[in-house]
Amino acid sequence: EPLVVFDKVQKSFDSFVAVKELDFEIREGEFLAIMGPSGCGKTTTLRMLAGLDAPSKGEIRLNGQLMNDVPPHERDTPLVWQSLALFPFLSAQENVEFGLKMRGVGKEERKTRALKWLEKMGILEFADRDISTLSGGQKQRVALARSLVMEPQILLLDEPLSALDAHLVIRMQAVLTDLQRELGITFVYVTHSQSEAFAMADRVIIMGKGEIAQIGTPKDIYRAPANQFVAEFVGRNNILTGTVASVKDSTARIATASGDFTVPTNDVALVQDHPASFVISADLVHISMKEPTGENKAFCKLISEEFVGSMVTLFLEDAEGQEFKVQMQERELSKFDLHSGDEIWLSWDTASAHVLNET
Ligand code: ADP
Ligand code: MG
Repeated sequence: EPLVVFDKVQKSFDSFVAVKELDFEIREGEFLAIMGPSGCGKTTTLRMLAGLDAPSKGEIRLNGQLMNDVPPHERDTPLVWQSLALFPFLSAQENVEFGLKMRGVGKEERKTRALKWLEKMGILEFADRDISTLSGGQKQRVALARSLVMEPQILLLDEPLSALDAHLVIRMQAVLTDLQRELGITFVYVTHSQSEAFAMADRVIIMGKGEIAQIGTPKDIYRAPANQFVAEFVGRNNILTGTVASVKDSTARIATASGDFTVPTNDVALVQDHPASFVISADLVHISMKEPTGENKAFCKLISEEFVGSMVTLFLEDAEGQEFKVQMQERELSKFDLHSGDEIWLSWDTASAHVLNET
């Protein structure tokens, strides 16, 4: 029995449908990320779960119980915002105590619980400080303590790190994932950042234009994107489109402007002469100066390189204008003496290609 069920949930604002027919489950104790571009309906989805908006259609069930019209304060689903929504005129401790006070918890117990969570978040020493005197990272921890002190079943987080500096984001990601594992509380984490979602979550829901494009583990989504939208959004994918030239048992040959390529057919029913698209992760493409053997190769010109830590991404283009990306270790690349404008061969194993369900 899943903790939460979204059953054909739709939300309209007047005639505008912000999210449509959302069907998914949240499992007890999981770290679920909801990722998608700005305006795709992530916040709307979270607000419905928090009880701040009622669905226009469909059902949201928590522990098997219909929640559509249950107000926020009668739910076990607090929300942590990007803006944090802390009270600037209260101390850290008073902020953390606030929800308990609203629920009529006595003074001594409030204090004990608030201090416990401030300590857990590593900010006990700031208990008496005014919120306005704390740093971004410290405020973040107060906001988390304020929600966690309620001992919720689910913690909802809406882009909670997007206002922080880059170096703090990495640190708070670790704080959050450690906390989630330690507490075993279900986290639903909304973000527009692929790296954040993939680094933190057990499962990811990818949303586009009010609909779910794919649900799966980061690895599933990365290696086997369901469609072109996901493949593009996840990035680091090479996407090729053409027509099916021939189909064998477990492979097919796809004719593209850049040449013919062999792909594994997965579970996708490929039909001769019909359009088809496939992807190859940038980290599964090999480079060579000489023409490689094998069925899948492309001759490209190097356009640019992008270094991130010890990894480098090469951006290339073939004579037909098809773009390619290759990702590799910098020390692997250094074996080649490459410059922009150089021509090199790319190749990949047939098994590395993944056919998209929808072209
Ligand atoms: P995200 O969080 O993914 O950026 P939102 O859920 O905030 O997206 O918004 C989804 C869509 O619904 C957007 O087009 C937004 O403009 C619209 N929307 C959200 N809230 C309202 C509202 N209260 N009234 C009208 N339109 C809204
Ligand atoms: Mg939002």
